[in-house]
Amino acid sequence: MNGRAPPPDLSALGPGTRLSTAGREPKSRARFVNQPVARASTILFPTLADLDAAIKAPDKGLYYGRRGTPGIWALEDALTSLEPGAAGTKLYPSGVAAISTSLLAVLEHGDELLITDSAYEPTRQFADQMLAPLGITTRYFDPRIADIAALFTPKTRAILLESPGSLTFELHDLPAITKAASAHGITTIIDNTWATPLRLQPLALGVDISIQALTKYVGGHSDLMMGSATTTAALWPKLARAHYRLGMSVSPDDAALALRGLRTLALRLDRHEKTALEVARWLESHPAVHSVLHPALPSHPDHAIFNRDFSGATGLFSIVLKSGTRASLAPFLDRLHHFGLGFSWGGYESLALPVELTGNRSLPQPARPGPIVRLSIGLEDTTDLIADLDQALIHWHNHQP
Ligand SMILES: *Cc1c(COP(=O)(O)O)cnc(C)c1O
Repeated sequence: MNGRAPPPDLSALGPGTRLSTAGREPKSRARFVNQPVARASTILFPTLADLDAAIKAPDKGLYYGRRGTPGIWALEDALTSLEPGAAGTKLYPSGVAAISTSLLAVLEHGDELLITDSAYEPTRQFADQMLAPLGITTRYFDPRIADIAALFTPKTRAILLESPGSLTFELHDLPAITKAASAHGITTIIDNTWATPLRLQPLALGVDISIQALTKYVGGHSDLMMGSATTTAALWPKLARAHYRLGMSVSPDDAALALRGLRTLALRLDRHEKTALEVARWLESHPAVHSVLHPALPSHPDHAIFNRDFSGATGLFSIVLKSGTRASLAPFLDRLHHFGLGFSWGGYESLALPVELTGNRSLPQPARPGPIVRLSIGLEDTTDLIADLDQALIHWHNHQP
């Protein structure tokens, strides 16, 4: 999109080939494997006629740094070509900026937004604290809702989805939700950070805007912040206008890092998925663990939806402990060697994080006997991670009253 040639359709290729090919220059001339990093604000035009031609078609080529440079377009095109049904992608300085800008692109004063109760906390805060004063109201719904159309009013304009929810891992029945929404002209937006387009292709299931925090799996090395929104031809003009009017722009250096991360995404996800499943299965039978919230496990209540809509899992899931409170977690979390204690996920290094749902859910939650801990499984070896969790859980268990 953008007046540039549309990226090629790579959907017939395997994931590794798609990731090696996406966003690359055509074979018809001598070229770099990777776009050189171009740091630019000003672009110089040879003549006034060239400047005037650029003003007439500002999205056709080089114009001004904020309008993009070839390395940024390469990343946009690569992300577009990973999602069948996509017409274009915009990049944002963070995942949160991708979400907030996409919401502003489709909502106006008097509209109503429906958000899954499992949504990422800053998404809720943006709706409650920034959209509400603009006259856009929000209602939260059960991520497992069976009949979403029952919630629609004439004011309902958009639905914000996240599947699985990144703390408690509920899945949506996406085809049912998008079918109901499109029948009422309601825009659907999904935060697809957990699955990435390699594991779930939301536009093919009828979603209108597919968002990723590239900060997570695409970056993959915990060294950059970026977000993306990929959409259909119908919504592209609105998305592109909001991106431009709100002054969204990303660093060309970070775009190069994200594109580098994208090249190895399939490899890394296969490893994250495999190790995470091994660790999750082991945790399911651990005496200190009440349950494991991982949609690829048969014990997960939405496992049938997972098998139907997703082509695989990634490396993030939660555990519910058998007893205790959040405050009781120190002997467990402080004792871990291979799991860092920190925010974010999707990097090569494993992380653990206590999950806080207070103030973060509008609907009642199922009773849970102990605190929730979220684990991001990195690229370390399964046996080392299991040994680490085991010694820390036993230590925690011995400290329980
Ligand atoms: C981290 C995260 C985001 C936000 O990404 P940032 O780049 O940190 O702004 C959005 N959604 C989910 C599910 C996330 O985990």
